[in-house]
Amino acid sequence: MTDLDFLRAMPKTELHLHLEGTISPETLWALAERNHVALPVGGLDELRGLYVFEDFDKFVKVWLMMCSCLKTEADYVGMADGYLAECRRQNIRYAEVHFTPYNHEKFGIGAERALGIVTKRLLEAELSGGPVTRIIADIPSEAFPESGVFTVDFLERLANPLIVAIGLGGPEKGFPRAAFAPWFERARRAGYPAVAHAGETGGAEHVREAVVQLKARRIQHGVRAVEDEGLLRFLAEREICCDVCLTSNTCLTAFTDLGNQPILRMIEAGIPVTLSTDDPPFFGTDLVNEYRRAREEVGLSMEELWRINLNGLRFGLADVGLRRRLMLEFEAERLALGGGKGA
Ligand SMILES: [Zn+2]
Repeated sequence: MTDLDFLRAMPKTELHLHLEGTISPETLWALAERNHVALPVGGLDELRGLYVFEDFDKFVKVWLMMCSCLKTEADYVGMADGYLAECRRQNIRYAEVHFTPYNHEKFGIGAERALGIVTKRLLEAELSGGPVTRIIADIPSEAFPESGVFTVDFLERLANPLIVAIGLGGPEKGFPRAAFAPWFERARRAGYPAVAHAGETGGAEHVREAVVQLKARRIQHGVRAVEDEGLLRFLAEREICCDVCLTSNTCLTAFTDLGNQPILRMIEAGIPVTLSTDDPPFFGTDLVNEYRRAREEVGLSMEELWRINLNGLRFGLADVGLRRRLMLEFEAERLALGGGKGA
C-alpha cells in the first residue's frame, strides 16, 4: 500500500471545517435559481471564477452571498447531506464543524430552524453508523457587535446535543480578538468551551489574545504565531492545539510556499496541530489532499501525520468516552491497513 493509498483509506478527523463552506459553486448556483436569489454573476462559469480568492474581503463577500441563498428546509438538508457524503467518501469519522447561527437569522431561514434541521441530519447519520459530528457555534466578527450579542443570547437559551463550543470566525483585521471577551465569558459561564480563529490574516498578537482573553482551548489557523518565538513556547506549554489548513493558507495568507509552511516550526516547537480544509470547494481541496500535500510538499512523515490525525480526537471537544472509543477504532483500523509505511 502506498502512502497515498493509506492516507485515503485511514479513518480521519477534521476539526476546522465550516459547514456553510462545504457548498460548491454548482450547488450555490442551483440554490440561487431555485430560491430566485439574484447573484452578481451572469452564469455558473462566472460564479466558479468568484471561487478563486486572492484576499479575505472577497472571500467574506462570496460567503455572505452563499448564506443568503439558503432559504428552505430542503436547502439545509442538502447542505448537511452533501457534507456527510464527503465525510463517508474520505472516511472522515469525527469532525467538528463551524456553524454561524447569526448569518442564518439575518440572511436565511432563522437560526433556530437552521440549527434544528442540521442537527437532525447529523444525529441521524451518527446513529446509523457515522460519521460523528459536533458543532462549534461561531460569532462572525464582521457583524461585531450585534453578532456577539445574538450568538450568546442564542446559546444561553439552547440545550443542543451537538454544540460543543463557542467559536469566532470572520475577518481579523480591525477586529481584535479581545473585543469579543465579554461574549466569550458569558458563553463559558453557560458551559461552552471556547475556540477561536486567530493568526490567519491577523498577526501573532491575535493568537495570544484568543488564548489569554477568550480562553480559547484551540486556535483555528494560528500559523502567524511563528512571528513570535515567545508565543510558540506559550502555546506549547499550554498545549493549545492549532487547526491548520495548508491550502486555505496558501490562498488567503502570506504563506504561499508549502515547503516553508509555519506548520513545521509549530511542530518543532511542540505545539499540537491538526489538519483541516476550512472550506473545501472554496479552495479546491479535500482532506485527503491536505494530508497528501503535508506528506509530499511539506515533507511530514507518516508517523507524524498519524499523530496529527489522532490530535483530532485528543483535542476534540466531544465526551471523553466517545473520543476514546473512536481512538481504539482508529488504532485497530490502522493495524488492519498495515499500519501505513513507517507509521
Ligand atoms: Zn475557518
